[in-house]
Amino acid sequence: MNDAHDTSEILIVGTGAAGLTASIALARAGWAVTIVGSIDTAPSARTVALFDGSLRLLANLGLVERLRPHFAALETMRIVDDTGSLFRIPPVEFRASEIGLDVFGENIENAILVEQLAEAAHATPGVTLIEGRVGKVELRDDHGSVTMDDGRTFTARLLVAADGRKSRLRAGARIGTREWAYPQVALTAILRHERPHRDTSTEFHTRQGPFTLVPLPGRPGAPHRSSLVWMMSPGEARRRQALDDTLFARDIQRQAHFLLGGMTLEGPRGAFPMSGLSASQLSAHRVVLIGDAAHGFPPIGAQGLNLGMRDVAHLGDCLTHGSDPGSPEGLARYEAARQTDIRVRTLGVDMLNRSLLNGLLPVDALRGVGLLALANIAPLRRAVMREGVMPRGSVPSLMRLHGTKSL
Ligand SMILES: Cc1cc2nc3c(=O)[nH]c(=O)nc-3n(C[C@H](O)[C@H](O)[C@H](O)COP(=O)(O)OP(=O)(O)OC[C@H]3O[C@@H](n4cnc5c(N)ncnc54)[C@H](O)[C@@H]3O)c2cc1C
Repeated sequence: MNDAHDTSEILIVGTGAAGLTASIALARAGWAVTIVGSIDTAPSARTVALFDGSLRLLANLGLVERLRPHFAALETMRIVDDTGSLFRIPPVEFRASEIGLDVFGENIENAILVEQLAEAAHATPGVTLIEGRVGKVELRDDHGSVTMDDGRTFTARLLVAADGRKSRLRAGARIGTREWAYPQVALTAILRHERPHRDTSTEFHTRQGPFTLVPLPGRPGAPHRSSLVWMMSPGEARRRQALDDTLFARDIQRQAHFLLGGMTLEGPRGAFPMSGLSASQLSAHRVVLIGDAAHGFPPIGAQGLNLGMRDVAHLGDCLTHGSDPGSPEGLARYEAARQTDIRVRTLGVDMLNRSLLNGLLPVDALRGVGLLALANIAPLRRAVMREGVMPRGSVPSLMRLHGTKSL
């Protein structure tokens, strides 16, 4: 194997939240890690709600203190059926205290999360952070290498694909995908509003998809802030994208049934066509996939990055320090550890989304019965809450509680 200065034990491609967290976790476990990518911290009107397991991972890596000022707590999650269905049921509320937690999680702007993780990666001994994009991938018996667009080459025994949905590394490893599209676009925005959110996120289930308001921390001059993810048909999205900020904010207020009072937009808006992606396998010779390179689905129930964070934590457990990080045994352990969780989340989000779009009476009835059962059967509600925050099965060591309940 080439022993030039650009050789490391593990090379991560992609500097999104999953890749950066993996770089810190793996370096702290003693591996020599190089991570390559272009760090994107431009405001994107996109936030991520990180649940209890992800917060434990971040806490165990010593990252929570730097993120805390940017966090907004999620104590209560409310679902409102706004489909106009015959089987419409009253709002259902889930409280973190019902499952013994102070909060379900914390919401943070994606750009701030990436910026803070990049700073932490820079400061972590054992991590080498390289700016640039990977162009070419080559896999050999005992190592893999990537060539950057500017011609630099980096080599490692294990390559970790954290380069998102259109992963170049996944394609280079010849891992196939199943991809599908939904007739929906998610419009996103950051909002300032008149009334407090009371640490509660509200998901209105509309016939075109969920309309979700998630708490954000206040700022000087803007004490009440939330993020919005509004899924709708492509035609409606085009119409609303053409509205100026004032008219768009009025539309949002109306759809929110004036829950948070008057609203104004803060910063740019986002638009994300909705699709799903499932990789045919999570590893190949010298390569593993994590985060959106491995799985993708619409932002319902805040599952995407939380699933990616579990990929990171399990990967840490599957590699045995002191041995070859890209050994077939380690890759097989990772594949086995992650398959079920990823399949269950992908299917669950797909079914819920399609049940909203469907509009057929039997499907509406089933969804209504499901929500009614959740509202009235406390043990079922608690089981669903626990599963949403952290699935059953083995908890990776980086997500175990090493301290107090309250992060
Ligand atoms: C509107 C919306 C709301 C969401 N809300 C939530 C939520 O509340 N909770 C939650 O858990 N999830 C949420 N998600 C999902 C979450 O945002 C993603 O799962 C997460 O950002 C994926 O992170 P990642 O690091 O795997 O990939 P990405 O964020 O896609 O990062 C990939 C990185 O790889 C880099 N890259 C790509 N190609 C190359 C290359 N050739 N060379 C080098 N680098 C490359 C990119 O520049 C990027 O930096 C939401 C998603 C959307 C769209």
